[in-house]
Amino acid sequence: MTPFILIAEDEDSVVELLRYNLDREGYEIGIARDGEEALVMMRERAPDLLLLDWMLPKVTGIEVCRQVRSRTETRNLPIIMLTARTEEADRIRGLDTGADDYITKPFSTTELMARIRAVLRRIRPGLADDVLRCGGVEINRGAHTVLRNGKELHLGPTEFRLLDYLMQRPGRVFSREQLLDAVWGADVYVEARTVDVHIGRLRKALNKYSDVDLIRTVRSAGYSLVPPKEEGPIV
Ligand code: CA
Repeated sequence: MTPFILIAEDEDSVVELLRYNLDREGYEIGIARDGEEALVMMRERAPDLLLLDWMLPKVTGIEVCRQVRSRTETRNLPIIMLTARTEEADRIRGLDTGADDYITKPFSTTELMARIRAVLRRIRPGLADDVLRCGGVEINRGAHTVLRNGKELHLGPTEFRLLDYLMQRPGRVFSREQLLDAVWGADVYVEARTVDVHIGRLRKALNKYSDVDLIRTVRSAGYSLVPPKEEGPIV
């Protein structure tokens, strides 16, 4: 299950940065531009994690935090506060109000992503699991191993990252550009054809012990991992 993260933030640049990085990590995202909207959105659908700006219009982050904690449905919702304030007293106040963690702006996205994974792992162990399964394939990020129908496969580092990314959203078609951004990084110049080469290697490795091709090539669109229900009998 893909974790759903609600971003409550009013600064456009921060929203874009978060949207880009969370999407890249495979999370589902909701965006609220003020505290009131965040509360309304959470009543419609409880997120798995709330990224909450301290200084929000209409209803402040602190007040949102209080209300989230006072409602039974969201009492245990993990909250990471985003704050421009650096004073220790404010941090403690944020944590007192019920935030699970806080991060000070400007923040490093690598650090924020690590905190998000840590919070999800602590509170909902299944959500940020080190092991992803799809059909007969199991990828273990911690041990860096891939199994298909119980047999270990040997993938190169790029093929491993490609598979990890595709497995976060089985069935979704990714363009070569999206895969380049996610697997090689947005600031690295690599030809789109490189993706085809690595997809070819990944496909060969994945299908070594099986006749069922798990990678679907979508003409002029890109690639996707065939979701389990379309996979057919496991051989
Ligand atoms: Ca703000």
